[in-house]
Amino acid sequence: MRDYEVVIGLEVHAQLKTKSKIFCSCSTQFGAGPNENTCPVCTGMPGMLPVLNARAVEYAVKMAMAVDCTVNRRSLFARKNYFYPDLPMGYQISQFELPVAEHGHIVIHTEKGEKRIGITRIHMENDAGKNIHSATDNASYVDLNRAGVPLIEIVSEPDMRSAEEAVAYLKSLRAILVYLGICDGNLEEGSFRCDANVSIRPRGQEEFGTRAELKNMNSFRNIQRAIEYEVERQIDLVEDGEQVVQETRLFDTAKGVTRSMRGKEEAHDYRYFPDPDLLPLIIKEEQMVKWRGELPELPEARCRRFQEELGLPGYDSLVLTAEKEVADYFETALATYTEPKKISNWVMGEVMRELNDRGATLAECKLRAQDLARLVKLVDDGLVSGTIAKNVFKELFETGGDPEAYVKAKGLVQISDTSAIEGLVDEVLAENPSEVERYKGGDKKLTGFFVGQVMKKSKGKANPGLVNQLLAKKLG
Ligand code: ADP
Ligand code: MG
Ligand code: ZN
Repeated sequence: MRDYEVVIGLEVHAQLKTKSKIFCSCSTQFGAGPNENTCPVCTGMPGMLPVLNARAVEYAVKMAMAVDCTVNRRSLFARKNYFYPDLPMGYQISQFELPVAEHGHIVIHTEKGEKRIGITRIHMENDAGKNIHSATDNASYVDLNRAGVPLIEIVSEPDMRSAEEAVAYLKSLRAILVYLGICDGNLEEGSFRCDANVSIRPRGQEEFGTRAELKNMNSFRNIQRAIEYEVERQIDLVEDGEQVVQETRLFDTAKGVTRSMRGKEEAHDYRYFPDPDLLPLIIKEEQMVKWRGELPELPEARCRRFQEELGLPGYDSLVLTAEKEVADYFETALATYTEPKKISNWVMGEVMRELNDRGATLAECKLRAQDLARLVKLVDDGLVSGTIAKNVFKELFETGGDPEAYVKAKGLVQISDTSAIEGLVDEVLAENPSEVERYKGGDKKLTGFFVGQVMKKSKGKANPGLVNQLLAKKLG
């Protein structure tokens, strides 16, 4: 088999968190009854005129600035014509020839190191509604609440060479959107959606292969699976002497395969033309200056600050800043107990492990960052052992609460009273005469056994340092 190179370019649709829709004043609030958030504009009534939402422009431009795009100070809205029941106007208002921004990039981090991924363009457009197919009453319904919700589409260069790189790019892009506060970044709910264009070529060949466009992946995991499957499928095809056809394929989550949905349409199929209802979008210098000044600290800068100001290793800084809520949690904890590396170990270790095990997000962790910091300090102060603190964390994850009060109420306070521990040590030695003999005969490895027995008797509460000291004294 020949060696193939994978080529991936991604199109991301991000829903902007504006209060109202992009071309009318309807609410964008999720969860309203069907068609409650609609008006003549977003339902495509003849003669109604769109009015551009200034906040949506602000958000699009801020994203453009965050990924080092050139902002086009004059851009155009175009009609992208197609028919679908969830698109009552018969066209989507998008940007085609002159998008709001172009030529940006972001830096991604994978096991192979850093890599720059080009961003071709960012354009603004309206979302479509939703078709709901009901098997129970054998009918289809159209809900237009989402019709007109503002989107930005972020199109990447075909710069990615593996599913890992694609996922790293998406996570990074999502983090920037969330840091900016302009998008929820929720893949499951669809506020962050990705189409993956995938092709292969024999390594060394300059020309790109024919691509398939993958849709319907609503988690990072599924994006990874879909790309990996598609790469295998294309390699098999080519190896069998067949050809990849340009088409749109849907990922079947249950079966883990991609399936042809339709032949890929070309831009000219959409009969794009400038929307006569909307003036060119002109962005003034003073707006640019104001918006640039309002940009928050972004993941890259925060990562650098964690290294330079907090003295954290590069790896910790990357992991902690990859998601805003994690970085915020970490910094809030740090404000209570200024031990960056210790707090980092806890957040990257216990907190993330617990989130992973539960498949939960940090929002579900009831233990406030301040209280996590207090727990870490309890360990340092010798009030509770590290092992017990980990269990306390697991418990408080669900309920929250003051760790010190909890530890005291549950009788988990570490025993640092020499005479109490001495009693336990004596018991253990008395109960294990043959081990004591062996130890005295030179089998020093048995120390671990004795420590373990004492810890067990104390239900994990004995101060291990003291246990070791006392054992050494008694056996020595
Ligand atoms: P559309 O999919 O709407 O026709 P484009 O032609 O601009 O739009 O391409 C969309 C995406 O496909 C871009 O992210 C681009 O990087 C990617 N792409 C283009 N050609 C290839 C290819 N041969 N292999 C993989 N990705 C590609
Ligand atoms: Mg596409
Ligand atoms: Zn409306």
